[in-house]
Amino acid sequence: MKGKPHIAVIGAGAFGGWTALHLLERNARVTLLDVWGPGNSRASSGGETRIMRGTYGPDQPYSEMAARALKLWAQYERKWKRQFLHRCGVLWMAEGRNDAFERGSVEMLRTAKIPFDELSAGQMRKRWPQINFEGVEWGIFEPACGYLDARVSCAAVVDAFIKAGGRYRQASVNPECLEQPLRALTLSDHSQVKADRCVFGCGPWLGRLFPKTVGNLVRATKQDVFFFGTPAGDMRFHDPNTPVWADHRDHFYYGIPGTDRRGFKIADDTRGPDFDPTNGERVIDPATLKNVREYIAFRFPALREAPLIETRVCQYEQTPDSHFIIDRHPENENVWLVGGGSGHGFKHGPAVGEMMAELIVKDREPAATWRLDRF
Ligand SMILES: Cc1cc2nc3c(=O)[nH]c(=O)nc-3n(C[C@H](O)[C@H](O)[C@H](O)COP(=O)(O)OP(=O)(O)OC[C@H]3O[C@@H](n4cnc5c(N)ncnc54)[C@H](O)[C@@H]3O)c2cc1C
Repeated sequence: MKGKPHIAVIGAGAFGGWTALHLLERNARVTLLDVWGPGNSRASSGGETRIMRGTYGPDQPYSEMAARALKLWAQYERKWKRQFLHRCGVLWMAEGRNDAFERGSVEMLRTAKIPFDELSAGQMRKRWPQINFEGVEWGIFEPACGYLDARVSCAAVVDAFIKAGGRYRQASVNPECLEQPLRALTLSDHSQVKADRCVFGCGPWLGRLFPKTVGNLVRATKQDVFFFGTPAGDMRFHDPNTPVWADHRDHFYYGIPGTDRRGFKIADDTRGPDFDPTNGERVIDPATLKNVREYIAFRFPALREAPLIETRVCQYEQTPDSHFIIDRHPENENVWLVGGGSGHGFKHGPAVGEMMAELIVKDREPAATWRLDRF
């Protein structure tokens, strides 16, 4: 191969965008393509915010990955003189009889050197009197974590990519024939892009583009997100007075405090029904809203009457084991696949992008955890 290799990255979400930027920084010639743009409303990286946390339960690779991502987010914030991570802390509420996830996280956080405090119920009640801690016996608080700006940071990555000499095109890659030896990508305007390697970071669309290799290994599930209006002048539920929180009660509910313009965000992490990311109508399920309201009335009693001011429907790109997919196409050496964020991929974007770029540029093989042959 003469000169710089030309690499095409398809998908400018959290995984594809950061991969393109890291490849460019490693001296590749990179073309980034996205059909609707970085963090668009159909993409899994769309919307306002995502949680940045290191608490991940026992025996997993993600606390270490989150530690690396935390460093990279801070590094790029400094470089671009912008803030994406709002460090209001993340609080995990644990029940004594059902706390294997939190218990198992403690050692992993320590090893990854992510700062955290273990708090008693009394300490939590004192610090956040606006939360009803009934049933909660202890908690983990991660002060260096918080929430990330989602679509805004995806757009910033693409802006930086273009500024650094990358080529970005808003175009759709034709899904036909991607599983055969790939000489060139055909775009929606019938033009072609020739590349030495292609990286597909197509989120919930990955299985549609690679029906034989990925197919249902990446399932798009419907996820409803709710924003409630806090009372005028009451800052108790805003950043920094309320942290990002996660509660494993009977369902896994999580939320992000009100930011300066949006409401108090809350969602149920339970995987919803299958969803079509292209044509699915993004309307929330009234039954989920009812459950969310009941939960809020219990855990955040002062928000019992809070009006619903906004909703979003997003989709997880769920793999059977919730681990990411980072691999070469089994038959096309020069095609790489990255996806399967499974409801927790966003925060890792900079670290996944770095890992992808290293693998591709150094022609290495990914670890077994990420490979497709694990299924
Ligand atoms: C409701 C919800 C809450 C979440 N909460 C968190 C959280 O708190 N913390 C966290 O870390 N993660 C969270 N996640 C998960 C995280 O957002 C995703 O795992 C991550 O954003 C996936 O990024 P991606 O780049 O793989 O996919 P996407 O963002 O979907 O990007 C794929 C891109 O590919 C493009 N594309 C698709 N097909 C083509 C084609 N043929 N040609 C050209 N372009 C194409 C699309 O337009 C899209 O922009 C959440 C997800 C949801 C839905």
